[in-house]
Amino acid sequence: MVESNPQPAAGEPGQMRACGHAHGPSGSCIPCDDRERTSMRAAQDYSGYISSDCVAFTTYSGGVLATITLHRIKREGRKGSRKVERHYWRAKSADGRLWYGRNSGPCMCIRMFAYRS
Ligand SMILES: [Zn+2]
Repeated sequence: MVESNPQPAAGEPGQMRACGHAHGPSGSCIPCDDRERTSMRAAQDYSGYISSDCVAFTTYSGGVLATITLHRIKREGRKGSRKVERHYWRAKSADGRLWYGRNSGPCMCIRMFAYRS
């Protein structure tokens, strides 16, 4: 598959990212996000991030990989003065597959696992 490498559109910052692509709108990297979505379609587990508003499982640059369908928080006691919480997530990717994972909250990395169909 040939990866497209579009020039930055008018009005965009047009700065190059470390990956060599230009910024898309909202700072995401469209070629990398597309490639990640393709990789995720073939994967049984996939690592990314939970968006700050808890609505999406995303790439590092913020491209949406899946939509969050369930979010539960479980208190797991204290570590010193800090409350320890475990966040459980379920998500649905654009191809209709269902995913689950857990982490320490929004904006944090997470490894999502596909439900076996
Ligand atoms: Zn890129």
